[in-house]
Amino acid sequence: MSKRLSVAEIRERIADLESRYHNGHKQGSEWWQLYGDVHPTDRMLWGRYTKLLNVRLQEQKPGNTKCTNCGSDNAISETLSDSETGHIDECADCNYTVVYREDADTGRVIEDYQGFTHEYSGQYKALKESQF
Ligand SMILES: [Zn+2]
Repeated sequence: MSKRLSVAEIRERIADLESRYHNGHKQGSEWWQLYGDVHPTDRMLWGRYTKLLNVRLQEQKPGNTKCTNCGSDNAISETLSDSETGHIDECADCNYTVVYREDADTGRVIEDYQGFTHEYSGQYKALKESQF
C-alpha cells in the first residue's frame, strides 16, 4: 500500500480511470473535477493520481534528455526500473514521445513506441503550461 508508484504505474491508473468514461481520456481537469458526470470515487482518484503524476514529473530534471525529434532541451526522460525496465521520453515543445518498456525478468519487449499520439503525449506539456 505504501509502495511508491512509478510514473508509469500512475499513468496506467489514470488511463484505467479514463477508459471507464466515453471520451474520458480527451476530457480536461475541469470536466473530471467539476462538471463531468463522474462517479465521486473516480473523481477523487483521478484528482489524486493526477496530482501525484505532476509531482513525479516535476521530480524529473527538465533537460535531462534532448528531444530526438526537434532537438529541444525542453524534454524529460523517465527511467523505468521496477517490474519493467526501459524509459519514457517526452518533449514539451513538439510532443514527441518515446516509450520503451521491457519485462524486467524476461527481457521481453512490452512496448516500443515513437510518435506523437501516445496516450502519454502532451502530459508533460500540459504540466509545464499549468505552471504559468
Ligand atoms: Zn521535440
